[in-house]
Amino acid sequence: MRHIAIIGSGPAGYYTAEAAQKQWGDEVRVDIFDRLPVPYGLIRTGVAPDHQSIKGVSRRYEQTALSDNVRFVGNVTLGEDVSVEELMGLYDAVVLATGAPRDRALDLPGDHLRNVFGSAAFVGWYNGHPEFAGLAPDLSGDTAVVIGMGNVALDVARILSKTREEFGGSDIVGHALDSLTSSGIRRIVVLGRRGPHQIMMTPKELGELGHLTRAVPRVDPADLPDVDEDALLEPGLRKSVNHLRSFAAAPEGARPGADIDVEFDFFASPRAFLGEGQVEAIEVERTRIEGGRAVGTGEFYEIPAALVVACIGYRTSPIPGVPFDERAGRFANDEGRILPGLYCVGWARRGPSGTIGTNRPDGFGVIEKIAGDLATATGGKQGREGFDALATARGLDVVTFRDWKKIEEAEAARAREGAPREKFVDVADMIRARG
Ligand code: NAP
Repeated sequence: MRHIAIIGSGPAGYYTAEAAQKQWGDEVRVDIFDRLPVPYGLIRTGVAPDHQSIKGVSRRYEQTALSDNVRFVGNVTLGEDVSVEELMGLYDAVVLATGAPRDRALDLPGDHLRNVFGSAAFVGWYNGHPEFAGLAPDLSGDTAVVIGMGNVALDVARILSKTREEFGGSDIVGHALDSLTSSGIRRIVVLGRRGPHQIMMTPKELGELGHLTRAVPRVDPADLPDVDEDALLEPGLRKSVNHLRSFAAAPEGARPGADIDVEFDFFASPRAFLGEGQVEAIEVERTRIEGGRAVGTGEFYEIPAALVVACIGYRTSPIPGVPFDERAGRFANDEGRILPGLYCVGWARRGPSGTIGTNRPDGFGVIEKIAGDLATATGGKQGREGFDALATARGLDVVTFRDWKKIEEAEAARAREGAPREKFVDVADMIRARG
C-alpha cells in the first residue's frame, strides 16, 4: 500500500490525487489536506464569480474526492497543526499543492497607502476568502487603476464595471455585490508597462470586455503597432490584439447609456502612489520597448486614483524547513522533487502561469516521479491511521468531505435568487454549518 499526502485541495491537488489513483489503483490511500474547511482552492476563491462554467470543473474533483481511497482532510494547517516532518514520517510521499496565494510586491513608494491592494487580496474579497473577506475597499471614488495586462487584471476591471444584474447567476459574495452596486467608479485605467503586442490577456476573456452593459473599453489607436506586424504573433495573441483593434476603432458615443470607461494605458510603468493616508493618484513613467523589455523614458505623469489593484502575479507561501526559491517565489525543486519524499506541483512548483488544465499533466508528472522514487521503497508507513491518531491526540477539528457537503448545502440554501450559493466567509460559520 502507498500512502500519499497532498497539501492543498485546488486543481493541482485533485489532479495529483487522480493521477495517484490511476498509478496505483486500490493500492494507494490519498489524503488531501486543506487549511480551510472547504475544498477546491483557486476554483472557489480565485476563479471569477461570474465565470461559473470554469468553476464547474469542481464536479470532476468531486468524483475523485468521493472515491474510497481518497479523502479530504479540511481545517488542518501545515506548519501549525502538523509539521512537514511529521507528515513525511507518516506518508510515503508528501506533495505540496499549495498554489501561489500571496501577492507579488510592487515595492514602490506609497504602496502602504489605504486602498492600494494586490489582486490576491482584492479577488479574495469579492470571492469570499476568509482571509480577505473583511478588506472593505473604498469604491466611492471616480477612478480605479488596475496594474498589469493579464487575465487577473481583466477579471478585476470587469468585476468593477458590471451592473448588479450582470452578476445574476454568479456566486459573488453579498458584501462585495452590495459594495459594487453603490460604487462611484466611472473610469478604470488598465496600466501596462509594455505594449499591445506584449499583453498576457487571452482572447475570450478580453472579448468579454466589449459586451458589458455600462462599460466601454477604450484603446488609443496611436498605441497600436502597424497591422502588418500582427502576422508575426502566435494565433491566440493575434486574436487578443484584434480585440484591442476593434476597441480602438469603436466610434465615440456608439454605446448610449454606457457610463464607465475602461481605458488601456500602454507603455506606462507605475513609479509611486501618492496621497495622504489613502491613495489619491499614481505616478507613472512612459516607457519604450527595448529588446522586449520596458525601459523608462524619463517622461512622468500622474493619474488620479481612488483605488489601485496591482495584478502583477503571485508567490507561494514558504513553509518552515522547506527549501524556497525566493527570486521565483515558489518551492526550490527539480521537476517537482524538493527532497526525497517531499514534492510540489502546480503553481507551487512552476509559478503562477497557465490554465487550470495545465495542472493535470503537472499532477501526472509528479506522480510518475514519485512512482519512480518509490519503486524500491519498502513501504510500511502508517498513512492515514497514523495521522488520525495524531489528530486525536492534538484535538484537531478535522472537516471531512461529508461535512463539506453539508456546508455546501447550507451555502446553496442561503443563496440569493438565481445564484448557486452564498458562501460563508468566516471559518467559524463554515464549521457551524456542518451541523
Ligand atoms: P500574468 O498573466 O503573468 O500577467 C501579469 C501582468 O503583470 C503582466 O502584464 C506583467 O507585465 C505585469 N507586471 C508584472 N510585474 C509588473 C510590474 N512590476 N509593473 C507593472 N506591470 C507588471 O498574471 P495574472 O494575470 O496574475 O494571471 C496568472 C495566471 O492565471 C495566468 O496564467 C492567467 O492566464 C491565469 N488566469 C486565467 C484566467 C482565465 O482563463 N479566465 C483568469 C485569471 C487568471 P509584463 O508582461 O511586462 O511582465
